[in-house]
Amino acid sequence: MGSVVVLGSVNLDLHLQVERHPRGGETLLAGDLERRFGGKGGNQAVAAAAAGAAVSLVGAVGDDDAGREYLRRLEAFGVRVEAVRSVQGTSTGTAVICVDAQGENTIVVAPGANHRVAPDALSALDGLQEGDVLLAQLELPLEVVAEGVRRASARGARVVLNLAPYAALPEDVLRLADPVVVNEHEAAQLEADGLHPASLLVTLGAEGSRWDELEVRGERVEHVVDTTGAGDSFCGALAARLAAGDDRRAAVQSATEAAALTVQHEGAQPPLPRPS
Ligand code: ATP
Repeated sequence: MGSVVVLGSVNLDLHLQVERHPRGGETLLAGDLERRFGGKGGNQAVAAAAAGAAVSLVGAVGDDDAGREYLRRLEAFGVRVEAVRSVQGTSTGTAVICVDAQGENTIVVAPGANHRVAPDALSALDGLQEGDVLLAQLELPLEVVAEGVRRASARGARVVLNLAPYAALPEDVLRLADPVVVNEHEAAQLEADGLHPASLLVTLGAEGSRWDELEVRGERVEHVVDTTGAGDSFCGALAARLAAGDDRRAAVQSATEAAALTVQHEGAQPPLPRPS
């Protein structure tokens, strides 16, 4: 059974419920501030650990309370954090998310320590070997992600590359991933940019997903609470199952079930596991 290394971001998400979004120059009062743990790297690492994989995260937090709290949380889920640097003089990545009465979001992200992850952090990938999986997204500097993909691939590891938020990576990098994972919007952007990954998995919301010629239907969920992080749960579980040796269909089926669980609770990450 291989292990999963996640190369990705860590963010503290600050949620504010507002009646309506403020206009320029305007001050509004919001409801209670809610803090949630997010960032695609952190979310996917937790999802992969919850799906049973041995997981370590490569990334960075700030030298602040949010960063320390996030590291403790990752460890509580069994995610190894030795390769998460604590960067002096920088804050942990932070997203301010305003949701109005209609459920419409505006999101402003301060990448903080995430944008201080440099190529030297990639030495943490040196232990990768055949059977292991590198799972990456695009919330770190793109040149670091691209180099990480090349290194992991050169060591014989499988690369699962979630092209979110969308950016056009060089085609030779996309061709190393098996699969590149995108949602429908990102798939349209890939098409518009004329980019053709060798292995492409498109998630289709409640409909399910399509990996090249393989189609898997979504799970029927009676009561959808919050779809935030559905894609992250999907990617984390997919990487975990591929590392465990599942074939494509079995891995996608598990990922679909994991994502269906995520849409039934608030937030992207499951509640903290109990100490027992
Ligand atoms: P998000 O940005 O909300 O995290 P995404 O846009 O990256 O998600 P989606 O295609 O919306 O990705 O969803 C990913 C997967 O989650 C889907 O392939 C599906 O398996 C599952 N999923 C999403 N929405 C639902 C839903 N309403 N009911 C059941 N499963 C869902």
